[in-house]
Order: sequence, then C-alpha cells, then structure tokens
Amino acid sequence: MMDNDKIYDITIIGGGPTGMFAGFYAGLRNAKTQVLESLSELGGQVATLYPEKTILDIGGYPQIKGRELVSQLEQQLQTVDTEVKLNTTVQNVKQVGDEFKIVTNQGSSMSKAIIIATGVGAFNPRKLAVDNSEEFEGTNLFYSVKDLGHFTDRTVLVAGGGDAAIDEALLLESVAKQVYLLHRRDKFRAMEHSVDLLEQSKVEPVTPYLISQLDHDGQQVKITAKKMKSDEEKTMNVDDIVVNYGFIAQDDALAGWDVHPEGSRGKINSGISGKTNVKNVFTIGDVADYDTKQALIATGFGEAPQAVNAAMSSIYPDRRGPVHSTSMKR
Ligand SMILES: Cc1cc2nc3c(=O)[nH]c(=O)nc-3n(C[C@H](O)[C@H](O)[C@H](O)COP(=O)(O)OP(=O)(O)OC[C@H]3O[C@@H](n4cnc5c(N)ncnc54)[C@H](O)[C@@H]3O)c2cc1C
Repeated sequence: MMDNDKIYDITIIGGGPTGMFAGFYAGLRNAKTQVLESLSELGGQVATLYPEKTILDIGGYPQIKGRELVSQLEQQLQTVDTEVKLNTTVQNVKQVGDEFKIVTNQGSSMSKAIIIATGVGAFNPRKLAVDNSEEFEGTNLFYSVKDLGHFTDRTVLVAGGGDAAIDEALLLESVAKQVYLLHRRDKFRAMEHSVDLLEQSKVEPVTPYLISQLDHDGQQVKITAKKMKSDEEKTMNVDDIVVNYGFIAQDDALAGWDVHPEGSRGKINSGISGKTNVKNVFTIGDVADYDTKQALIATGFGEAPQAVNAAMSSIYPDRRGPVHSTSMKR
C-alpha cells in the first residue's frame, strides 16, 4: 500500500529517545513528520533494556527512571502533530528524484528528508557462556531487570563489571534480600560515582571470578564460579542471576538499503548538524558517528534539533530558521 497523498517533510527512522525528541522538535518546526519504529513500543534501549534503572545524566532531571523518561518523551511528542508508526520496520530507502521512498513492512511513503536514528539497530544481550544456561532463562536467569518486584526479598547475583552491571546491582539492592556482584576482574570499570555508591552499598563483590557451571537446586540455582588465573572454585546458591555482559548489536542496520550513507562498523559518519554524505539524509543518536562522539541520551537530545533544523533549511531554504522555542519580547 502506498501513502500517495502525503509527502512527509521529515521521516525519522527509529523511535528511541533520540528519534522521539527529534519527532517532537520537528513538530515545533511545523514539519510534516513521521517517526517509524520497528518495535511495538517507543523508547529504544531505555524501554527495552533498562526501564527500571535510575538515570542520572539527563539535564533537568536529578534522577529519573528509564520508564518515566520514555513516558515524558511520549507526552512531549503528543503535543505536536508528528505521526508515530509502531511495528514498522524500514526495509529500504530509495532515492526518487529529490525525494526518498521509504519502504517498510507496512507499506511505503515518500519523504523530502530522512533522519536516521536507528541506535544500535536490533540488539541482543551477550549470553552467559555456560552450556545449560537456557534452562534457567526467564525463571532464575535474566539479561535485564524489567520487573523489579520479582526480585523482592530474593538473593540475587549480578554478573558483570561495567556501569550497567553496577547500576543493576544497586537497583536490586533496594528490594532484594542480598545482592552479589560477580566480576572477572578485581576492579570495576564504571563511572567513579557509581563505584563510590557501590562501595557504600551492601552489595557484596565476588571478584575475580567467572561463572563456570549452573545447577538446579530446588527453586534456587547453584552457581559454580572459577577464580581467574587459578584452579580455585567457589559455589553459591542464589534465587536469581542477572547477567550484564553488554549487548551484541546488528552489524549494519541499513543493510540492503539503496540509499546507504557512508560509515563503518554499523555506524554512519556524521558531519556537522548530523549531515551524511547523502543530501537530505541526516543521522542522530547512537548510530551517528564522529570524533569524540559519546553514545548518551543527552548527546542524542543535542543532535536532534540540529539535524531537524538542518533538514528544514535544506528542503525549505527560504524559511526563517528558529532561535528557540519561545521568544522574549521587550
Ligand atoms: C544498559 C544500558 C544502560 C544505559 N544507561 C544510560 C544512562 O544512564 N545514560 C545515558 O545517557 N545513556 C545510557 N545508555 C545509552 C542510551 O540508552 C543510548 O545512548 C540511547 O538509547 C540512544 O538512543 P537512540 O534513540 O539513538 O537509539 P536506541 O535507543 O537504540 O533506539 C533506536 C530505535 O530504532 C529502532 N530501529 C532500529 N532499526 C530500525 C528500522 N530499520 N526501522 C525502524 N526502527 C528501527 C529500534 O527498534 C530502536 O527502538 C545505556 C545503554 C544501556 C544498554
């Protein structure tokens, strides 16, 4: 089915936090905009991987839960006319004259500019390298904390040593009976602030160990962990294991697209204001790559208005650009 009546000014591909904010900002510019998201919900990594985590580095929010941030972004997006299409995966983008044909699993549409905000594309957790781990998945073994209530008064072992693992351990500490944090190194690789919080908490570090075996023990899991660079082993019984070894992302979210801006390792080279090497194709958020790029929500929030304004200047060169959303009159 082809949506012929409408040619969008801007199509935003990806409804993570960056795409959502870009969708709102494009609405402020009165751009005819659609946000296409392949999942059944908005919010990208925040909604799918860490809805319960408390985020500390969003300007204006001393702290905010992932789920709450997504809800605020949704409310903000609803204040403008931007269309949101869920369960809509972009499968191809073709150049048709000066415009783009966006081909999705739900049909196609035309757009004057596109902003690619596909983040890390489809991603899957890096799994625990233990033969029978799948037997425990969903009952005692988890790769993210979706329902904090499940862990109330339980004994939980978090495996991993980065920021996300520490955040999860601290979050679980608020409800669990006991939390262990198992890492294969002696030191944790996380923000100094998180490590300080960990040291002040009741989370018990188990280092330097690596999980080598899991066994059922009644309702619990018996973990065998091997000490690094040694033959020493330790066993411990816990109710749940939460593994945070990071995520494996799809190599190229744009695979098979006719319009394929330059980039490498699944990222798109971004110039100033999110410009790519293809005219009227912009990129923002985790997928956009340039020197000094930090893959953070705040970074994406900064990139979004720049790309929207650059897109609008390019497709409507005679329109006056914005200064800010409200203006002060003397
Ligand atoms: C565990 C963890 C904790 C984190 N904690 C923090 C933190 O505390 N603070 C912080 O600033 N950052 C944090 N981050 C990083 C932050 O989540 C990312 O920087 C942010 O999500 C990037 O947003 P995005 O919109 O660019 O991409 P994403 O959130 O990845 O969203 C991209 C969206 O595009 C969709 N998509 C992909 N391909 C297509 C397609 N072809 N068609 C349609 N839709 C498509 C995806 O389904 C997804 O919903 C954390 C990340 C992780 C994994």
